[in-house]
Parts: sequence; C-alpha cells; structure tokens
Amino acid sequence: MIVPRFAALAATLLFGQVSGPRADVWLEADTRAAAVERKVIDWRRDIHAHPELGSREVRTAALVAAHLRALGMEVREGVAHTGVVAVLRGGLPGPVVALRADMDALPVTEEVDLPFASKVRTLWAGKETGVMHACGHDTHVAMLMGAAEVLSQMRERLPGTVKFFFQPAEEGPPPGEEGGAALMIKQGAMENPAPEVVFGLHIGSMHEAGTLAYRPGAAMAAADVLRISVKGQQTHGSAPWGGVDPIVVASQIVLGLQTIVSRSVDITKEPAVVTIGGIDGGNRFNIIPDKVDMVGTVRTFDEKLRDDVHRRIRTIAEGIATASGAVAEVQIDKPYGVTVNDPELTQLMLPTLKRVAGEGKVILRDRVMGAEDFSFFAQRVPGLFVFLGGTTPGTDMTKVAYNHSPRFRVDESALLLGVRTLTHLTLDYMIQAGGQ
Ligand SMILES: [Zn+2]
Ligand SMILES: [Zn+2]
Repeated sequence: MIVPRFAALAATLLFGQVSGPRADVWLEADTRAAAVERKVIDWRRDIHAHPELGSREVRTAALVAAHLRALGMEVREGVAHTGVVAVLRGGLPGPVVALRADMDALPVTEEVDLPFASKVRTLWAGKETGVMHACGHDTHVAMLMGAAEVLSQMRERLPGTVKFFFQPAEEGPPPGEEGGAALMIKQGAMENPAPEVVFGLHIGSMHEAGTLAYRPGAAMAAADVLRISVKGQQTHGSAPWGGVDPIVVASQIVLGLQTIVSRSVDITKEPAVVTIGGIDGGNRFNIIPDKVDMVGTVRTFDEKLRDDVHRRIRTIAEGIATASGAVAEVQIDKPYGVTVNDPELTQLMLPTLKRVAGEGKVILRDRVMGAEDFSFFAQRVPGLFVFLGGTTPGTDMTKVAYNHSPRFRVDESALLLGVRTLTHLTLDYMIQAGGQ
C-alpha cells in the first residue's frame, strides 16, 4: 500500500510549507496553470456550446485527441466508443498516475442566459429536447486538457507517467448499449501502463468557487436500477373477483418496500434509500389491467447492505404478489458502484488539497446519495475523487440550481483551481512515491 512507504515524506507536503526542494516544482506548475487558464475557459465555452450525449461525444473527443497529440502524447481513440486515453511519460522514473474527466452532456434544455449557451436539440425517449452540459462535464474536459498541457510542459522533470482518461457516458450509455468507465476498463484502459492510483474531480453548485470538498471512504452511493413487473389477470373494473388486480398488488408492494429502510436497516451505521420513481399500468377507468410495471432506485454505501436490501426487495415484492395470486418479477441492475475514496490515499493527499486551495477552503463534506462511475476505476486501484466548488462566492446557497438543472451555472473562476488540483495531486503523488 501507499501510505506506509510515504508516511515520512507526506509530512513535507503540509500546508504552509513553501520552501524546500518541491517549492519550485509547485511554483512552476502554478505559473504554467495560470498561463493556460484563458485557454481552459475558451475550451469550456466551446464544449458547452456543443454538448454531446453519452457515447456520442465525437466532436469533444476529436478536440481532446488533437490537443493531446499536439502535446506529443501517445493517444488512443475510440475507447468505449468515444473515449480518449493518452499517456505522458515523464523524464524521470516514477509511478503511473491516472487522471480522469467525463465528457458527456444531458438531455436538458438550457435556461441559462449565456452567449455560449447550448442551442443543440435532440430526440430523447421519443421527445424533442435540448442537450446541455448540465452536470459541468464541459469544465472537467477543459480542466483536464489544461492539466495535460501543464504536465506535458513539465515533462522533463516529471518523476513518473501520467495516464489521461477522457471518458464517455458517465451519465449512462444509451439504452441497450454498454459504455462509460466499465467499458473503458474492459477495453484495457487500466493496462499498459497500469496506473497505481486514479484521481478525478467533479464541479458542483453546492460549494463556492475557490473551495474543494472531499470525503474519505464511501463518498458517493451505489445507484441501482430497480424494475418490478407485477402480473395479475385482466378483468372488468366492476367485477374484480373475476381476475387478479395488479394495481392493488403494486400499491401494497410500494408500501412494503418502505419498511426496508424504516424497519430493517440499522440506520445508526449506514444510510440507504429505496425509491419507486414510476408506476405504469392500466388505461381505462373500468378495466383492471393484466400488468403493472414499476421502476425505482436503490442507494447504498456498503456492499453487504446493498445485497441485503436487494434480497429484501425480492422477498417483499414476490411474497406480497404470491399472497394475492399475482406474480412479481424483480430485476435489479447495478450500473454504478460505491465511489470509495481510499482512506490512506485521501489522508496522504489532503495536505496537497489544503495547500492548493488555501486555508479554510477545503471542506470535509457529507456523503452524497448521487453516484459516479469513477467508482469503477477506484475499484481497481486506490482512487480519490474531489468536489470542486462552482458557485460564485456570496451567492445565497439555498437558491442555487443543482447539477442537472436547466439553470445550472458555473463560475469559471473555479477552473484554475481545478487545473491546479489535478496537476498538484499528480506531482505530489509522484514526488512522494520516490521521484525527485
Ligand atoms: Zn451528472
Ligand atoms: Zn457528473
């Protein structure tokens, strides 16, 4: 593991220490990051004006690949459809560090009044809608392009290798397709060379620009997709005894599922959420239908609890259906694992975050019930996923539009801190791992 080897060295990275052999590396990184800031903002605006949905990030990927090639990197395109993987070999020996940014936008119609607001439209689930970088992945791409430029300019003194993952479809691939981080890994992203650690960040409106937030251990939930199909027997609405009513059975199942978290989960140890988000059945006031379909989600931070909740969902749904003469079919997909920040790696890199953001600007935050497919990279090697504040300081935080809102907006002054964070995490990890 990482920490025992570097425990002594970690002390040298404490906030406030600006002298010593590393100070000039940090200074060079900051000078170069400041020089690239304007370009990062311009890239972000260009990508924001041209958002692309998951696994369809063709223009974005071409922009990224051209930039990385111009920096002289080895570049592999078409990973998991539109992903880009690049390798930057430093001039000195050292570990392989992976940095990840996601590239996809969402089917959201932008309502932010900006000269570079998205006007892109698409068909989504049969309806015309806008496409918008409503989760800020445009900034992630731009910041990692900036960090790639800074690190490549420092190549000669870089003690190790940097692997860049520009990932498609974080929000999920199109229905029926594979995609995202899991497919990138399947297609060899974590090999040749294999990274020792992986870093990533996510911009968010819940914190002010200029701040970083982190959470050691399980930081973001696993997000499972739940589908329950209740099969009854169609009959006339006036004569329910002639069939089996799946609407009543589905209603009982919805209520039964509420008892999982409220009666069965030890909430002093682990939170969990079970939500039914959609019910679809029946088409006329006097017909009891054959079938009701329900969809929902399960959120947990612990694999054992995750399995236990799944087991209880099946038992409750199937048991209630059986008791009523119906049949319940339960399907649970697991597109997102728990995003775990390796506790030792987090501890090791915390001084870097504090030094880069400054005193009082690094927040230990609560767990997030949202999910991230960065989790798949962090299942392979120790990972650290940092939250970057994106809201203009002084804004009333109770009125801020969250990520995924059509009114989500980013204060671009946050981007330089993002570039510096990615760059310094890489440099500090490499230096601590024994480089110079
Ligand atoms: Zn999102
Ligand atoms: Zn996101």
